[in-house]
Amino acid sequence: MAAYDYDLFVIGGGSGGVRAARMAASLGKRVAIAEESRWGGTCVIRGCVPKKLFVYASQFHEHFKDAAGYGWNVGETRFDWQTLKAAKDTEIARLEGLYRSGLDNHGAQIIDDRAILVGPHTVQRVGSGVTCTAERIVIATGALPNPHAALPGHELCISSNEAFDLKTLPRSILIAGGGYIAVEFANIFHGLGVEVTLIYRGQEILSRFDHDLRQGLHAAMEEKGIRILLTDVIEQVQRADGGGLVATTLSGQSLAADAVMLALGREPNTRGLGLEAVGVDTDERGAIIVDAYSRTSVPGIYALGDVTNRVQLTPVAIHEAMCFIDTEYRNQPTAPDHELIATAVFSQPEIGTVGLSEEEAARCHEDVEVYLARFRPMKATLSGRTDRMVMKLVVDAASRTVVGAHILGHDAGEMAQLLAIPLKAGLSKEAFGRTMAVHPTAAEELVTMYTPSYRIHKGERT
Ligand code: NDP
Repeated sequence: MAAYDYDLFVIGGGSGGVRAARMAASLGKRVAIAEESRWGGTCVIRGCVPKKLFVYASQFHEHFKDAAGYGWNVGETRFDWQTLKAAKDTEIARLEGLYRSGLDNHGAQIIDDRAILVGPHTVQRVGSGVTCTAERIVIATGALPNPHAALPGHELCISSNEAFDLKTLPRSILIAGGGYIAVEFANIFHGLGVEVTLIYRGQEILSRFDHDLRQGLHAAMEEKGIRILLTDVIEQVQRADGGGLVATTLSGQSLAADAVMLALGREPNTRGLGLEAVGVDTDERGAIIVDAYSRTSVPGIYALGDVTNRVQLTPVAIHEAMCFIDTEYRNQPTAPDHELIATAVFSQPEIGTVGLSEEEAARCHEDVEVYLARFRPMKATLSGRTDRMVMKLVVDAASRTVVGAHILGHDAGEMAQLLAIPLKAGLSKEAFGRTMAVHPTAAEELVTMYTPSYRIHKGERT
């Protein structure tokens, strides 16, 4: 008789958890996976997927305007928020069904319940109270929006969780934060016709990105009509007399809006999981501490994805799950590789980036070459748009390796995915130069920037 009820019990049915459970089940392991909410987790239910659908929805406004330059008379247009929400719900339900059937088809037991740890090999279902044992337990419970509980009036604010399902589309919104979510939603709401103000504590939005992209996106957003307030934070949110909300800021401004959205980072979802009782160590932010192989401080318990706060991205959680499977069930110890992860911000215009920003490269390498192109994309010519596209390659002069590639403009996310391959392969600038251009495209600029725009020596631009 088997010593444990299961070979593997996974807590959390998001990207990382589902992948680990499905792969283990496909290898013949006895697997159970528990999810307290909906299958697919943040990415599918209230993150990447609905976000991208909303990005598409919000772009039509500009497409309709641009059409005139190309000879189209679009006529009167009208946006219906309820129609978009319903269509999004249908698509999310379809995807959730695929997640469930994927698990089911591979023989994993699906448990629609919250599960917590009650022992090093024991899990309890909170709803039914039933306990079971497993040789290995994977915690993949993701992260939750930082509620910013210290902010007076935070309970009046929404997070990205609620933004997808608002009963009515607000006429105006104030968004706090300068990261991925704040910037993406500022553009989404603006495109849907909402008056948007973004408030960010730093000197420039998107603090971890290359400065040319940050400044270029900021300028483009302001030109569209998005108001951006820098070096300021919300200190209080109250109900306004005539309805709506009013936020008071550190600099003394009073900002009225129908809705206030907080996009101030995401916290690992570890509260109440029974980690302390079992001895699973967490850091000061509540993230589960893991070693290079996603092992926690308790043998037999593993953690992957956002709950470990390594890199909060869906493909990273999936990769960590695959490494867990290789290590534990295929006898091929594999540590997740977190180097050179390409990423996109689905702002409008989009950002696509991989590798070191110019500033980071200048800190790591004595001599850096920067190849920079700013141009009006062909797409913007007949439409009469003033859009400027930015493309930048950052090269370590000593090794000739391209260490960073940064794009602002249409399809930047798609380009970042492809650029991740040569950067990951460690290809040289000369390899880019030997590559034939595809004409006419915006991306051809990446292989036709022949001479450096400037050089950086020991951190100083020359
Ligand atoms: P980010 O870490 O991207 O941004 C958080 C923002 O909140 C930063 O601008 C930060 O400022 C600011 N902030 C944090 N704490 C405070 C505070 N106390 N007061 C004022 N400002 C504060 O987090 P998001 O919430 O936008 O997104 C969470 C994660 O989800 C991202 O890190 C990303 O990994 C992932 N994500 C990825 C997407 C994609 O791939 N396209 C889309 C959406 C999310 P500062 O910069 O100064 O620290």
